Amino acid sequence: MLLDVEKLFPAESMTIMIVDYTKDNIDILKKFLTKFGFKITVALSGELALDLIPKLKPDLILLDVMMPGIDGYEVCIRLKKDKDLKNIPVIFITAKGDTEDILEGFGVGAVDYIMKPFRLEEVYVRVKTHLILSAALKKLTLDSETDPLTGLFNRRTFMQKIENEALRFKRTQKPFSILFGDIDLFKKINDTYGHLAGDAILVSISHILNTEKREIDQVARWGGEEFLILLPETNLKGAVQLGNKIRKSISAKPITHEGQEINVTMSFGVSEYNSETHIEKIIDLADQRLYLAKNSGRNKVVSEDALTKF
Ligand code: GH3
Ligand code: MG
Ligand code: MG
Repeated sequence: MLLDVEKLFPAESMTIMIVDYTKDNIDILKKFLTKFGFKITVALSGELALDLIPKLKPDLILLDVMMPGIDGYEVCIRLKKDKDLKNIPVIFITAKGDTEDILEGFGVGAVDYIMKPFRLEEVYVRVKTHLILSAALKKLTLDSETDPLTGLFNRRTFMQKIENEALRFKRTQKPFSILFGDIDLFKKINDTYGHLAGDAILVSISHILNTEKREIDQVARWGGEEFLILLPETNLKGAVQLGNKIRKSISAKPITHEGQEINVTMSFGVSEYNSETHIEKIIDLADQRLYLAKNSGRNKVVSEDALTKF
């Protein structure tokens, strides 16, 4: 089965935030939900909730509607405007039970609506349902964005990241660069040590790329043994430096797989995006330079279009 519901629902690692103006309600809900293993955080006002939610990033919010100051609807509206918080499921839990109230609750982005006086068992099953749905959505999103072997971004996601960077260039005119990396003589590694060893090396290389890159850089598995790294706000010179750092780190020591030491090297082509041109063009340019790196001895970083001496 693609999605194992029980695995998606480790209650003990989930945090629920209860936002309610009435402390008695909080106490009852907290005592009951704690029994199932959830971690519970609380806020007695909309203001406090908006302050705590970005810091605590709860997995689900039980939100009272009627509160002095910022009310529940307004809290929800603000959360839905924040790209980091908008996917946290919000369940309203309120005495306001007219049809318009319920419609307004769903209208501002809640996933469910529970009437006060609440029945504790009902609160639990609704909370559980929405936690599972939310975890399933997170997993499906992650699966669609990443490569299953290495966990790196896949080609499609990477293209979106580059497109965002190109849009940023339009505003700021700050160039960015890409590194196109390809493992040297990988076919021979597969032939000598087997396909599983080859897979393990792909994983090890992805770890090295992730470790050596800077925090803002993005890495993708472009295809078989090809990787692309996006370097925001970095010119060609900076990209060459980072490419060489990664290259040296890979060749510095062999990768160990099942007791065997396997020497691996990698070649890179580099290009810089410094005018509003097609993204495909700079990927293609980096690919051509990678080809030059291969033809001039491998284990190299090439940023020019022709090499004077090989
Ligand atoms: P070069 O230095 O010119 O890049 O030589 P190469 O041998 O790396 O290049 P080539 O394109 O001839 O071979 C790439 C190999 O990568 C062939 C293919 O079987 C292997 N490969 C592609 N994807 C995977 C994978 O997911 N796992 C494993 N183990 N091997 C893979
Ligand atoms: Mg190769
Ligand atoms: Mg290749």
